[in-house]
Amino acid sequence: MPDYTNEINELLDRRDEALAQGDAMSAQAAVNKAHALDRVSLEFESAKRDFGRVKGTPDEIFRQRCQITQRVGSVATGAPDRVEGWRLLAAMLATVGNFDGVLRATASGIKRSPQDLDLWLRRTRALIRLKQMSPAAKALRYCVDIAGKDNRVIALVTEHPVCPHCLGLLPGPHAAACIQCGKPGPGAGGAVASINVRNQSKFDVLFPTVRKVVATSMGMDEHRANNLITLKTLLKRDFGLTTMDCANVLNAMSREFGDRFDAPLFKSALVGFLDLLVADLIRATKL
Ligand SMILES: [Zn+2]
Repeated sequence: MPDYTNEINELLDRRDEALAQGDAMSAQAAVNKAHALDRVSLEFESAKRDFGRVKGTPDEIFRQRCQITQRVGSVATGAPDRVEGWRLLAAMLATVGNFDGVLRATASGIKRSPQDLDLWLRRTRALIRLKQMSPAAKALRYCVDIAGKDNRVIALVTEHPVCPHCLGLLPGPHAAACIQCGKPGPGAGGAVASINVRNQSKFDVLFPTVRKVVATSMGMDEHRANNLITLKTLLKRDFGLTTMDCANVLNAMSREFGDRFDAPLFKSALVGFLDLLVADLIRATKL
């Protein structure tokens, strides 16, 4: 099935223009044309528009959105292989606060498209909202496996560290306690898990790149770098370090990461950590 989304949106634009001018016949003609192209896509795209356009009191908006969501649900069920339908349904259900529904919709979509990052992200967020922190940790790990460098994944990983006691996700980076096992969280001086999800963002994803940049900028061969620059060496702190060494590496870093170095997310999540990491790396390689 070819993707007619653009054509259908153009036809829907035409319909809306015609309706605004009171030309019901042209409006209907545009809809008929879209219907002939791809009926399912027409349903999804027009539901998307309707969902964004609802007006009225908060109660009315909620009621109308629930109706539109229900409509999308029956179209998605009738065309279960159209994964974009499960994505749309999950997004709408999350907006109306039906997170159990999000779990069902994402499960249906993931069954057909197991590597779909959008579905996995929506599922993870829904599990967090439902306070199912162990399944949420598992789902977030899938997200990291699929696309550990995706900004949305990095943001979730940063926002929800792992509790080292029960391995569930914590409700926030400064949580006073784990909502699952009740042990103190990072906000109360508690530890966060040093493996799996949380460190996936820091080491498993970034570390190999950082190591490569550091090795190249210091003229080390890759094999030596892989042996010398390890998590273990990072812990050894008392080595000589010149300003020149630091400047060289930081220049190489900004070349490698480009404008991502300035992105707010990258900055808040990683730059503070990178300074420390780079300093440690250089100290370690001075061994
Ligand atoms: Zn816990």
